[in-house]
Amino acid sequence: MVSTECDLAVIGGGPAGSSAALYGARAGLKTVIFEPGLPGGQIAQTDIVDNYPGLPDISGFELGSALYQHALDAGVDQVQHFVDALHRKPDGSFLLNIGSDEVSARAIVCALGAKARKAGFTGEDTFTGRGVSYCATCDGMFYRGKLVYVIGGGKAACDEALFLSRIASRVIMLVRRDQFRAPKGIVNKIQATANIDVRFNTLVDSLAGDALPTTIVLKNVLTQQLTEERHNPGSFGVFVFTGFDPVAGLVNEYVDRADDGGVITKEDMSTKTPGLFCAGDMRVKPLRQVVTAVSDGAIAATSAYNYLALI
Ligand SMILES: Cc1cc2nc3c(=O)[nH]c(=O)nc-3n(C[C@H](O)[C@H](O)[C@H](O)COP(=O)(O)OP(=O)(O)OC[C@H]3O[C@@H](n4cnc5c(N)ncnc54)[C@H](O)[C@@H]3O)c2cc1C
Repeated sequence: MVSTECDLAVIGGGPAGSSAALYGARAGLKTVIFEPGLPGGQIAQTDIVDNYPGLPDISGFELGSALYQHALDAGVDQVQHFVDALHRKPDGSFLLNIGSDEVSARAIVCALGAKARKAGFTGEDTFTGRGVSYCATCDGMFYRGKLVYVIGGGKAACDEALFLSRIASRVIMLVRRDQFRAPKGIVNKIQATANIDVRFNTLVDSLAGDALPTTIVLKNVLTQQLTEERHNPGSFGVFVFTGFDPVAGLVNEYVDRADDGGVITKEDMSTKTPGLFCAGDMRVKPLRQVVTAVSDGAIAATSAYNYLALI
């Protein structure tokens, strides 16, 4: 453990947390960032990021690592551990439980991000990690020369289908609606890719097999017709990209949440609890991207600095 007391505790080492930590340290706050996994958050899972302004051709891993490293270079201490619990003390400061250790912080920027939503078909949990995946960059290589089904019709699903089309022999996209919900440029690329087939109005009903899946049952949502497709064990995979749910359980009692689970903040990232700021994908916002996450983080840390200057 690096320190038992700090001015600013930043929980989460994705783009929002990294940016908040950088701004906190540069404002002179003794800042600690808590991240149990690989630095960079969700973006580290993706192949090429081509929409971050000024960096047209950077991998997600490079971008996520660079954001995190920039914070460390600015003097931020890191704790590579999950924050298990957060409590507000009577004096208004906070106590973080990290395993059997405790850390006190005068202010918090919470940047817990979001996690992949399940598609909800029978067998999804059983075969997660054994035929069902939520990350093409992480697991795509297991399907070199094989068949993959991609569930989803949004931008992330299209991006990942294009990535998988360069590895797999064939990609079948299953889109619940009758059209994509993705920018036209990406849809055009999907349509121009010879080994991607698209089936609209279709979802996965179930996946079955023994150690590995062998049978996928598809459902046409218009006719309710079920179609069974059988494959050899290990010859195909199912990638789910149906959206993300904000991660906010850690701060549930200290914030208000919207219907989609996102934390409600003011424009300065403050919550209903003084000294607790939330940033990035975990909060209610119209666009969950790296560019908005880093912006949120910078605002949150600046607001934390202003808050600490007044108390
Ligand atoms: C496959 C994929 C492709 C994407 N492509 C793009 C793209 O091309 N362009 C783009 O702009 N955006 C893209 N995004 C979205 C982008 O990655 C997110 O908007 C961004 O990462 C959000 O940053 P964040 O810091 O809010 O959250 P996250 O990146 O989710 O980071 C949150 C971090 O908090 C940590 N954490 C959670 N709970 C705790 C806890 N209790 N204690 C300590 N740490 C905790 C997690 O380990 C995680 O590292 C993509 C996302 C995915 C999944």
